[in-house]
Amino acid sequence: MRYSRMFIPTVKEIPADAETASHKLMIRAGLIRKVASGTYTYLPLGWRSLLKVIAIVREEMNKAGAQEILVPSMQPKELWDRTGRSTDYGPTMFCLEDRHGRMHVLGPTAEEVFTTLVAGEIKSYKQLPINLYQISPKFRDEFRPRFGPIRSREFIMKDAYSFDADPESLDKSYKAMYDAYCSIFKRCGLEYVIVEAESGEMGGSGSHQFTVPCESGEDTIVYTEDGSYAANLERAAVDPLTKEKTDADIPPKEEFHTPNFGTIEAVCMFLKTKTRQMVKTMIYSTDDETIALLIRGDHAVNEEKLRLAVGGKHIELADEATIEKVTGAKVGFAGPIGIVDKVSKMIIDHAVAAMAVGVTGANKTDYHIKNVVPGRDFPLEDENVIVADIRCALEGDTHNGEKLLFKKGIEVGQVFKLGTKYSEKLGAKFLRPDGRETPCLMGCYGIGINRILASAIELGNDDNGIIWPISIAPFEVLVTSVNQDDEKVAKVAEDIYQQLLDNGIDVLLDDRILRGGVKFKDADLIGIPIRVTVGKKSVAMGNVEIKLRCESERQKVPIEKATDKTIELVNSLKERLMA
Ligand code: ATP
Ligand code: MG
Repeated sequence: MRYSRMFIPTVKEIPADAETASHKLMIRAGLIRKVASGTYTYLPLGWRSLLKVIAIVREEMNKAGAQEILVPSMQPKELWDRTGRSTDYGPTMFCLEDRHGRMHVLGPTAEEVFTTLVAGEIKSYKQLPINLYQISPKFRDEFRPRFGPIRSREFIMKDAYSFDADPESLDKSYKAMYDAYCSIFKRCGLEYVIVEAESGEMGGSGSHQFTVPCESGEDTIVYTEDGSYAANLERAAVDPLTKEKTDADIPPKEEFHTPNFGTIEAVCMFLKTKTRQMVKTMIYSTDDETIALLIRGDHAVNEEKLRLAVGGKHIELADEATIEKVTGAKVGFAGPIGIVDKVSKMIIDHAVAAMAVGVTGANKTDYHIKNVVPGRDFPLEDENVIVADIRCALEGDTHNGEKLLFKKGIEVGQVFKLGTKYSEKLGAKFLRPDGRETPCLMGCYGIGINRILASAIELGNDDNGIIWPISIAPFEVLVTSVNQDDEKVAKVAEDIYQQLLDNGIDVLLDDRILRGGVKFKDADLIGIPIRVTVGKKSVAMGNVEIKLRCESERQKVPIEKATDKTIELVNSLKERLMA
């Protein structure tokens, strides 16, 4: 391609809503343009890179035995009602009504459609295992679209679905995807970490998340320095704290008046105590249970851990009426004393059980109680009392005795073992050799294509622009003709360009009649990994200059050796990526 003919609208101005390096650079380098909140047009350079990512993903998926298909993005809502996921996704799912009054969704993912397909076509164990995937747009009405392509409302996802006859076979399918993901991210030039993850709305039993560590990431990964443990914050398990000791005897519990002190902070101010000395009592509901949860005042509830503690059921904060009924008080004054008989279960976080003494709500409007001793004033053991790890990990916590460290990251992919959640509800069953009918065991595997691009830019950039990994750069080589109006220079540049093309190199020729400085600025901004500079002075001496975007040195190379040298560099950059 010739730069003079190509649509590469680079700009100096950074839009006000661009917060991250990748978002800013994708606009400045003319890769994308915003259409509306969370939707983007990919311009030629951006789309070329995206296509390269797609090609890598497709190659590795095919190599792993998955088969590509394409299902509609517009899907009957009825399918999502059958699995209960219209409710689970809630407002994140785009819904629309057709002219006949039928409801459809714009797929945020596609378990329902793939499972229904298999339900209709697969009858026998002989047809299993099978892994089907697609690379297609997905739609999510994100509460807060931001960071450009990292959290957008329409994006391209590779989503794969495996169907197996038994757990061993599912393990193999899962492992094949896990390994394919490692190859994909490596080939895309990303540094990534794999962490244990929760399966959340997906349902199911096991999951890993592939995360690119970087400051602007919205995910938090938690790991031990010795590498023995890594999980995302939703999952990270913490060791119980050691039981606090007190020297003096603790006086009996004492009620005191706290009018209008409905928040932990207000009560602490009043009492001159710390939030870590408070016990928060929160009332939750599942479909058939009311649950009291006790957590230390300075800790945050981990919703995923809580969900698992109630057997994976949907659980949410109880409504005001339920809270008032259970506590006999207005919201804000719930406490653990005497509550265990009023709820189906009392779940106590480890850290509360480890407290020597604390302040709690009194289950009486406008009252709190101090000198509350866990185990003395409310039970730590009973039929319906569970002491468990329910809180979010904090810096300073340990896991198996090892200190936990925290890092920000961008989730680029996730793999899940789903079990039979979807196959049961949607009837994806098969006949076993013994003639019995059972639902398929499923796995699902997602990769955010656009996020790969953005993450690569987050990792590879400097003040002047993007520094692409060669595998997903819009072009491998840029030939910059500094004095395009000089016939000899233009001819040398053109020859090198043609020879590189003939050798299958993806090359862009900057043939614009512009000042060298402007061309170099653009070259740095769009970040093509190898630049061959053809200028009047060096050509007069029989040379051109070759420079890598990731290094500052430039080397002089005789004109007749320029093509071979460039090809050699392309290959060595590719090898470096795989090393
Ligand atoms: P997140 O927690 O960041 O919202 P998710 O866990 O809901 O993502 P999945 O359902 O696992 O996402 O989707 C598979 C992949 O699709 C993710 O790993 C991510 O790379 C990508 N993805 C998800 N949501 C978005 C989005 N709004 N914009 C761009 N890519 C996304
Ligand atoms: Mg995910």
